[in-house]
Amino acid sequence: MDKALRRPVIAGNWKMNNTPEQTKALIDALKPLVADADCDVVVCTPYIDLYAALDAAAGSNIKVGAENCHWAAKGAFTGEVSAEMLKAIGVPYVIIGHSERRQYFGETDLTVRDRTRAAVDNGLKVILCVGEVLEERQLGITDEIVRKQTKVALDGIKEEELASIIIAYEPVWAIGTGLTATPAQANEVCAVIRALIAELYSKDAADHIVIQYGGSMNDGNAADLLAQYDVDGGLIGGASLVAEKFAKIVEAASK
Ligand code: PEP
Repeated sequence: MDKALRRPVIAGNWKMNNTPEQTKALIDALKPLVADADCDVVVCTPYIDLYAALDAAAGSNIKVGAENCHWAAKGAFTGEVSAEMLKAIGVPYVIIGHSERRQYFGETDLTVRDRTRAAVDNGLKVILCVGEVLEERQLGITDEIVRKQTKVALDGIKEEELASIIIAYEPVWAIGTGLTATPAQANEVCAVIRALIAELYSKDAADHIVIQYGGSMNDGNAADLLAQYDVDGGLIGGASLVAEKFAKIVEAASK
């Protein structure tokens, strides 16, 4: 296996932050800082900011993503946005199954599976989030939980569709808490996910799939996390809201 087979992806998850005007300003600040990146750079914004983000990022190496999408193409789903709608405005990436969606908005492994299917059907690249809560880690069932979440989410996804999937391992206890998994802990679970991909698909699929770590990754700890063999990038919340910090993480991934 060769880590070089996988191009790192550094993605910002802006969560519920920034107006369209602030979006433009942040992307404008980021553009020159990441222009020479040797990794993929993505910023995922609230729906309301997507047009501004696409406009500000046009012509640069920054790609834009949404933070969720619905499984249906259209219909009576007040407040939701479909994958088809994201595709229609030219959004290439979407986060699915983020722990905050699971925790606060009733997202389940099955809805994550259905949203993933819709996103892939519409040609979007999915950043599929999985990860254990603290109690599960303390009970020693992290691998089991992460394997189950990944397996259900990928149910029905064919090997040739895996190029559209990035998996983000995000221990829930590390998200927005300032607690980061150690590089060894992050690598261990990313390796479990990679082994599952080999089991479900093939060794070749496992060698090529991008698996990110997320959970309080910042400009200080990114280099050590990203140096791990099975960690191919990061999904970054808080630190993605500051252009200089996010750019330093991109720089660490580019080495
Ligand atoms: C996230 O929202 O996916 C995340 C990892 O957040 P933070 O970096 O703030 O922990």
